[in-house]
Amino acid sequence: MITRIEQIVDALEPQLIEQRRDFHKYAESGWTEFRTASLIARKLHDLGFEVKLGRDVVREADRMGVPDEATLEKHYQRAREQGADPEFLPALRGGFTGVVGILRCGEGPVIGMRFDIDAVDMTESQSPEHRPVREGFASVNPEAMHSCGHDGHASIGLGVAAALVELKDQLRGTVKLVFQPAEEGVRGAKAVVGSGILDDVQYMFAAHLGSGSPTGSVAGGRGSFLATSKFDAFITGAPAHAGGKPEGGHNALLAAATAAINLYAIPRHSQGATRINVGRLQAGTGRNVIPAQAHLAIETRGYTSELEQHMYNYAVRILENAAAMHGCTLEVRAMGGAISGKSDIELADRTRRIAQRISDFTHVHPGLSGGGGSEDYTYMMARVQANGGQATFISIGADINGAGHHTAEFDFDERAMRGAVKLFVASALDIMQNR
Ligand SMILES: [Zn+2]
Repeated sequence: MITRIEQIVDALEPQLIEQRRDFHKYAESGWTEFRTASLIARKLHDLGFEVKLGRDVVREADRMGVPDEATLEKHYQRAREQGADPEFLPALRGGFTGVVGILRCGEGPVIGMRFDIDAVDMTESQSPEHRPVREGFASVNPEAMHSCGHDGHASIGLGVAAALVELKDQLRGTVKLVFQPAEEGVRGAKAVVGSGILDDVQYMFAAHLGSGSPTGSVAGGRGSFLATSKFDAFITGAPAHAGGKPEGGHNALLAAATAAINLYAIPRHSQGATRINVGRLQAGTGRNVIPAQAHLAIETRGYTSELEQHMYNYAVRILENAAAMHGCTLEVRAMGGAISGKSDIELADRTRRIAQRISDFTHVHPGLSGGGGSEDYTYMMARVQANGGQATFISIGADINGAGHHTAEFDFDERAMRGAVKLFVASALDIMQNR
């Protein structure tokens, strides 16, 4: 069976590269993946998948860090001009940019696979040394660049769809291919889970292409993710003449500055690693005006969700009291979040054993891999695990130039997509046939 899978996927490679380069060129950031998602829906539909999209797979109340209406609409129109599929585009309007393709093949297990599709809010390098520039597929959209490899993930997902259709006679059960918006800033997965689309999933997979390891390397499951909260604090005071009546104002700048200093004074925790960062602080309007407004962009993290919650609660208490000190009010707005999570060792091991039989993989890592990042896929893992299922997060090496994720020179080795597709497909078949 592996041989047949390898033949099918090897034949798909030119398509994998073409799709990846197309998504790369028209990069779209979280909640604005209108073109990307519409083309994914078109492809899944044409392959014979049942397609669910928009509000059917994205629960409005669980979305986090959604851009304002004007930005959403501007990018919606941009997508239309850049070749979005006119049939599927309207369902995505307003930032409901999730797509799920379902393939039902009779009785059997329900398998979910997550592919994130969003770009990072940054402008791609224009250097002629940069391969996407040299080969004509660098992002044409300012402040949107696929510098994390999610263009590859989207293409891998479509490759999995195409290969599964060719292997349909072997499938017993249901496969749900979940194309998730807004993974960057951990904003999208919770809303996809909130739609209930994963409630019947028994086995859940996701993978990340990584620039840190060479092509041919793979780990069957990641062992830890930091829980995180991304939130904005808005402090509101009252303006006054700085010379004529300074006592009449409520100084939001001082409240914000006091808060920032004290946020970093939260003690370390005996139970494990924690983090806090104030990434942005803006306040005030003019030299001779008591500053009436301040805005802080903050994130907290923790090795477990409990540690993270401790950091978050402590941070909010500091913000509230710093605001109160200067007679200001506080509003905290959630911009993103993820819980901690862990791959199931049983499914990770199973994935590792399958990888060992795929010719693309030359270094198969034992056990669970580590790392200090966060991923909102943890919401999906948690839902499946809570329902008695298993979930894993696969790491796939794809280094090409040593440039790190989220840098303007990021690129990955496109050959790694082939191995990734094989691993997803072979894992699905293994579960369906030997469960
Ligand atoms: Zn990523």
